[in-house]
Amino acid sequence: MADTPLFGVCGAGTMGSGIAYAAALAGYSVVLYDITPESLERGAGQIAKFVAGSVERGKLTEEAAAELRGRVATSASLDAMAGAEIVVEAAIERLDVKQDLFARLEALVAPDAILASNTSSLAITEIAARLQHPERVVGMHFFNPAHIMKLVEVIQGYRTSEEVMERTAGISRRLGKVPVSAKDTPGFIVNRVARNFYGEAFRIVGEGCATHEQVDRCMKAVGFKMGPFELMDLIGIDVNFAVTESVYQQYFNEARFRPHLIQRKMVESGLLGRKSGKGFY
Ligand code: NAD
Repeated sequence: MADTPLFGVCGAGTMGSGIAYAAALAGYSVVLYDITPESLERGAGQIAKFVAGSVERGKLTEEAAAELRGRVATSASLDAMAGAEIVVEAAIERLDVKQDLFARLEALVAPDAILASNTSSLAITEIAARLQHPERVVGMHFFNPAHIMKLVEVIQGYRTSEEVMERTAGISRRLGKVPVSAKDTPGFIVNRVARNFYGEAFRIVGEGCATHEQVDRCMKAVGFKMGPFELMDLIGIDVNFAVTESVYQQYFNEARFRPHLIQRKMVESGLLGRKSGKGFY
């Protein structure tokens, strides 16, 4: 592991496991950290599934798969991030959790290591605010499934340096991604546009105009790969709700970003989508 650069990932959930796999495919040694052993085990299991799927589809030879497996490690201790060239944080969407993680990471990693957040909706500027070196904190916003989707929004916080922006774009390219730089505004680019994709769909269902199946069918018939409800099942209804609330609040409760009660009820019921076994479908 010592010869190849180390890529750290914090949070072994839906996104963390996909990002870790993408980094491993690109030749990095990867260390995946999470606070609970169950999540770490689930994340490692997910990566094992990705590898097996790639072998089945003929995209990885058995030999390459074995070599790749040898480059992915999990750790229940954040100390394992110490030698990383970059650490991508993909923990739950809570500012306090991310600020705390970054403060601990800053004390661990080398001075030139990049600290990136995969946040969908929190301000990079605020995540970095209490650090000694906010210039090395950047947004690296992957899309789900992270090992497949090409786009990475590279977000420049108020104090992120140009050099870190460039290096992050370079690392994204190494991962086979298409980096697009954006300023640190709520929802960045894609999630800001997408709020209305979900929001209007909820209003249609809430008013009884159509069922969620009908909305999804219509959107697919006009060319979208997935309808809004299918997509929320994939993303995690809780994650999508958290993003909606956060964007709404950051735009000073602007009506066009308002969350819908159906979202809250789904989350309260534990219907979170694929990860909980049931959501809209
Ligand atoms: P998830 O719920 O699948 O996983 C979150 C993981 O974070 C869990 O394994 C949890 O145990 C772990 N965690 C909680 N506190 C932690 C801590 N202090 N340190 C390390 N790990 C901790 O969530 P997800 O969908 O993978 O989302 C993770 C991040 O990625 C969020 O910021 C989210 O907004 C963002 N994101 C999600 C999507 C998506 O489609 N799900 C897309 C882009 C970005």
